[in-house]
Amino acid sequence: MDHFTLIDGELHVENVPLARIAAEVGTPVYVYSTATFQRHARVFRDGLAGLKRKHVAFAVKANPNLAVLRLLANEGFGADVVSGGELARALAAGIPASDVVFSGVGKTRAELEQGLQVGIGQFNLELEEEGVVLSALAAARGQRAPATLRVNPDVDAGTHEKISTGKAENKFGLPIHEAKAIFDRLAPLPGLNLRGVAVHIGSQLQSLEPLERAFERVGELVRELRGAGHTVSHVDLGGGLGVPYRASDNPPSPADFGAMVERVTRDWDVELMFEPGRVISANAGVLLTEVLWVKPGGINPWVIVDSAMNDLARVALYDAYHDFEAVRPSGAKFVANVAGPVCESSDVFAKGREIDLVRSGDLAILRSAGAYGATMASTYNSRPLVPEVLVHGDRYEVVAGRISAETIMAEEHVPAWLQ
Ligand SMILES: *Cc1c(COP(=O)(O)O)cnc(C)c1O
Repeated sequence: MDHFTLIDGELHVENVPLARIAAEVGTPVYVYSTATFQRHARVFRDGLAGLKRKHVAFAVKANPNLAVLRLLANEGFGADVVSGGELARALAAGIPASDVVFSGVGKTRAELEQGLQVGIGQFNLELEEEGVVLSALAAARGQRAPATLRVNPDVDAGTHEKISTGKAENKFGLPIHEAKAIFDRLAPLPGLNLRGVAVHIGSQLQSLEPLERAFERVGELVRELRGAGHTVSHVDLGGGLGVPYRASDNPPSPADFGAMVERVTRDWDVELMFEPGRVISANAGVLLTEVLWVKPGGINPWVIVDSAMNDLARVALYDAYHDFEAVRPSGAKFVANVAGPVCESSDVFAKGREIDLVRSGDLAILRSAGAYGATMASTYNSRPLVPEVLVHGDRYEVVAGRISAETIMAEEHVPAWLQ
């Protein structure tokens, strides 16, 4: 079921016509569907229903909007954060600190301190020295920091190289064959409660097979750690489940994922932790845009839209695919390129693709834009920062306002010696 549908020939999000949002808020604008977020959250939880002890933390970096975080908190999700800013957002959205997991390869000392001060649920350590520093900071406060070691299982996730994190050559995690020795040295530290391991091998995974291989390696490590007398009570299995961007995509379902996890972790006897991002939010949002011009091209016509790579970076960054659809499709199609106004040749959303026939002034959407969309937006070319709207039934609210080029300019100044 989808909550982005044609009603009387016109695209709606739930019961709100996108044309109404365009008229009242302007374009470009991200539009999210509450019902779709809720459905994805429930499908994910249902997929894990067979697991007894579990903790699900939404990967905030996928969509850090406060309203989205609150919506997911209401669905029982904690937060997986990768910076002090994301931690502050999770708390501001009402997620209890104890439900927050702090991941990330470059936490600053100030961020570790911030996590200790608010009492987050878990730190996922990326290297031995980080554990030593965290222990010292925690001990100085009279605390013991709950922590796991994030391991790099050296598994090829089979995804785009820029979103792969679990190969030996990637910067993430510590080599799994060194994990036992590092665990031996960190476990006795007075400021740490080193209680398990974590793994996350990449994003937009199209197959369960690499995940299963990674989890099996983690299972071997858990047995080895216990064999050495360590207590292992928590294993964080990360995120990474792929989503369909094209109608022909067929990623594994949360139910298939849950069944695999159940099988692989049957005798682990731990609390399992999950950090889904994309699978919850990608298809809960679209980027609504207006066609500025249809420009004749050397090969195909160029549909120049008012959204650009600064609003949605995924295509320029990862060669990602986003469906392009007219808000009021006539049924006619043409082969065209779709591009934004930014002065970069990589500011192209589609090339030589058969799309709905559009003309200047028409509204259109780029689908599947709810993950790694607005959060990666910038103001490049001095464009305003793109706003976000959340729809709920027949209502909507602007949940992040458009930040104008003037507001950003107000933070700049020309030094006295130049005046
Ligand atoms: C990015 C990230 C996630 C979420 O990945 P998705 O592919 O969006 O599910 C989870 N855990 C960690 C550590 C991450 O860096």
